[in-house]
Amino acid sequence: MYFGHPCRSLLRLDIVPHETPAEHVLAMYSSLSRAWGPQHWWPARTRFEVIVGAYLTQNTNWTNVELALKKLRSARVLSIAGIRKIPIRRLEKLIRSSGYFRQKARRLKLFVAFLDRKYGGSLERMFAQPTAKLRDELLGLEGVGPETADSILLYAGQHPIFVVDTYTRRISERHELFPAKSNYEEVRAFYEHGLSVEMNIVPAPQSSGPASHLPSPMSLVAREPLARVFNEMHGLLVGVGKKYCLKAKPRCDECPLKLLLPAHVPVT
Ligand code: SF4
Repeated sequence: MYFGHPCRSLLRLDIVPHETPAEHVLAMYSSLSRAWGPQHWWPARTRFEVIVGAYLTQNTNWTNVELALKKLRSARVLSIAGIRKIPIRRLEKLIRSSGYFRQKARRLKLFVAFLDRKYGGSLERMFAQPTAKLRDELLGLEGVGPETADSILLYAGQHPIFVVDTYTRRISERHELFPAKSNYEEVRAFYEHGLSVEMNIVPAPQSSGPASHLPSPMSLVAREPLARVFNEMHGLLVGVGKKYCLKAKPRCDECPLKLLLPAHVPVT
């Protein structure tokens, strides 16, 4: 059951009343986008760098990933050819900061082997595949779960697919947007449905917010409108999750989404 309180939204949003969970999602996007502007996710120079980052970010924080990426770049192996040719022990050493480095090194090698085998080493050919087909293929690779597959599809391939992470789930559950035990696919479908409307939201011109990045070649790539909205919403929710919607104690009182909290949930 959805307990959203339209009166709270009237204070901040022009998308009113938002009486359904889908409207609530739209109101969240509108509120955050107008407050924080473009988030410039994913910070990367190339599509392959996004893919490597998507593997490395599993079970660690982005600072550790950045360090590993920097080392790969300095060693001039942050490319398909580079990962293909580098001895695995050396690769492990370079990505050590990201944790689970042996497993991750092997999986990066496996990705390049898959790319070579199926698409002649061409990301362009790989990303030209229909979204569902390519998603299935990626999910068949060792170490690629739905979040990693969807990050690769959305941020490296510009496929319109929403990425569900821990922050998305936590924020949505606290706002009672769907039942707590909803699986990944249900949450993804929920967000894709909520954001798949024609919208006339003008984001803040300047980037701000806890998860915003400087513009990068990949964040500035041209995207179709749906992919752009999914991209921005994920970055915005990461910002909320990092600074306000903390696991142990949410900081609702300072959070830009506090006016959208269900009426019976106390503002902490
Ligand atoms: S911190 Fe509070 S208001 Fe902000 S997203 Fe989390 S539950 Fe909602």
